[in-house]
Amino acid sequence: MIATCRHCSKSKVNRPRGLCWSCYYTPGVKEMFPSTSKYARRGVGNFSGNAPLPSAPTTAAPGTPEKLAVLEQRAKLKQALFHPADARFAGDARPHEFLKTQAVAA
Ligand SMILES: [Zn+2]
Repeated sequence: MIATCRHCSKSKVNRPRGLCWSCYYTPGVKEMFPSTSKYARRGVGNFSGNAPLPSAPTTAAPGTPEKLAVLEQRAKLKQALFHPADARFAGDARPHEFLKTQAVAA
């Protein structure tokens, strides 16, 4: 079976989104046909960037089960996995310092 262009149904598909060369490069045409790539983003659980920061940093050190639980929780809430003030080692005062500045600002 030879796939034909989803737009003009005449030419052979040789561009992404099931379009022929001339349709793909015709202004406005490819915008009407969303990407068919299985690598395109879809559904939940596959996001990056732009996620809101978690409401508070964690004191759990990296690699600990506690930290993993925190990451899981953040992923579930669609928050950024890492907070800039997360503890970077056991006993790191960074999260506490951060929360102190937050309390002052509030
Ligand atoms: Zn076409």
